[in-house]
Amino acid sequence: MPNLRRIYNAHAYDTDAPAGSYWDATLPAAPAYPALDGGRRTGVAIVGAGYTGLSAALHLARDHGEAPLVIDAAQPGWGASGRNAGFCGFGGAKLGDAEIIRRFGEQDLRSFYSAQKEAVALVRGLTSTGGIAAEAQAEGEYCLAHSAQAARALPELAAGLSRYAGVDCPVLTAQEMRQEGLHGDGFHGGLLLPEGFGLNPGKYAAGLARQAQQAGAVIHGGTPALSVHEDPGGSYAIETPTGRIQADRLIVASNGYSSDNLPGWLRGRYLPVVSHIMVTRPLTDAEKQAQGWTTRRIAYDTRNLLHYFRLLPDNRVLFGMRGTSNITPGSVQQMRRRIRRDFEAMFPVLAQAETEYHWSGLVCLTRGLTPYAGRIGEWDRAWTGLGYHGGGVAMATYTGRLLAGLAAGRPYDSPLPGLMQAVPRPFPLSRLRRHCLPAAYAFYGIKDRL
Ligand SMILES: Cc1cc2nc3c(=O)[nH]c(=O)nc-3n(C[C@H](O)[C@H](O)[C@H](O)COP(=O)(O)OP(=O)(O)OC[C@H]3O[C@@H](n4cnc5c(N)ncnc54)[C@H](O)[C@@H]3O)c2cc1C
Repeated sequence: MPNLRRIYNAHAYDTDAPAGSYWDATLPAAPAYPALDGGRRTGVAIVGAGYTGLSAALHLARDHGEAPLVIDAAQPGWGASGRNAGFCGFGGAKLGDAEIIRRFGEQDLRSFYSAQKEAVALVRGLTSTGGIAAEAQAEGEYCLAHSAQAARALPELAAGLSRYAGVDCPVLTAQEMRQEGLHGDGFHGGLLLPEGFGLNPGKYAAGLARQAQQAGAVIHGGTPALSVHEDPGGSYAIETPTGRIQADRLIVASNGYSSDNLPGWLRGRYLPVVSHIMVTRPLTDAEKQAQGWTTRRIAYDTRNLLHYFRLLPDNRVLFGMRGTSNITPGSVQQMRRRIRRDFEAMFPVLAQAETEYHWSGLVCLTRGLTPYAGRIGEWDRAWTGLGYHGGGVAMATYTGRLLAGLAAGRPYDSPLPGLMQAVPRPFPLSRLRRHCLPAAYAFYGIKDRL
């Protein structure tokens, strides 16, 4: 797209290229959402049909009687929402409790935990009684210590979760983890967070789109926003390839797939980083028993550059990690080897379980390591939500609902912690921000090995 200023190479944003994910293979064939043809006037326009945009659309239509117009450059769920690991749990920020208290205060930490709990409950509701079949599986999430030192820190983590979130998280030894049905090389024990669960993210995105449409939202795929600006009268003009959308109110929900000039306020305020996922062929019962991995609970480790993994409903293993600063055919091949190496090191008995799917996507960070839900700069009736730091299944859905309330002028009675209202500051040398990642990865890689 010629006008859009983006920080990765064109391949990362190629909407004609399917993600190649396992999730895509599980989706039933469905007609594409058609491209917008010509101009439109609308009350609320939403740019981006991932969880943030779709949840905003669903809640605007269902709870506020609006008929928002949603456009996506690709199809709903094409971005991170259709490519993630399907972990629905606590998350959204990349800061520890102590740092949140230092910057925002103890009350705000409690409020942020309340928001995270509500976020998980919101997705649980949508995927249980809310009409979205997304293969929700196994309540609970393991955080696994990757070193003896990390294991010694688990009780303090559990104490914080009890004190500030009101959640009791048992601390488990490596032997107890084995009894729980999750054994791997290098695990030094773990923590069980009772709040999380796994789902099929592709089905969840498709279901959100369907629910939003049924509630009254109008969704167009294949419709990139090429520019957006505020008109003198206070409405918003969004140019698309076939015409102009004139909207009274605007939600920009492009998150990690954003452009630095759409709108210009976003320039340098977000940092997309690449995360990779592999999925193996289905394991046999004998392989699961031999490895000691039978639990369906989602799990991740305590590394800065964390690994995340789960046993899928059809007995395939999903294993993911970060580690490249670009998406090129060469970097994908390099990561394919690295992810395989780390998977086999952790689960050596499964070395014969070949990789059948490998894909990547962009996770969005902010400079302050906190998510944002709020106004776009000085624009009075325009909002955005972004920067969920790899925790967007729950937090993007929640943020979309918050943005719907703000756009409707009737905010929900849900926590909007100060931490989420802190306006993201631009990264220094913002045009070069992606190029700092290799050094950061090298630094954290060394820390993780100490
Ligand atoms: C590999 C990977 C694994 C992850 N694992 C997890 C996990 O297990 N659990 C978890 O909670 N989170 C996870 N995440 C993060 C999570 O997927 C995201 O936080 C969440 O999906 C963000 O949703 P979103 O709607 O804000 O953005 P996205 O889903 O990225 O949607 C943005 C949309 O905007 C569209 N767009 C961009 N520019 C334009 C434009 N100019 N015009 C029109 N449309 C445009 C894009 O096409 C895209 O569809 C993972 C992410 C990745 C990449």
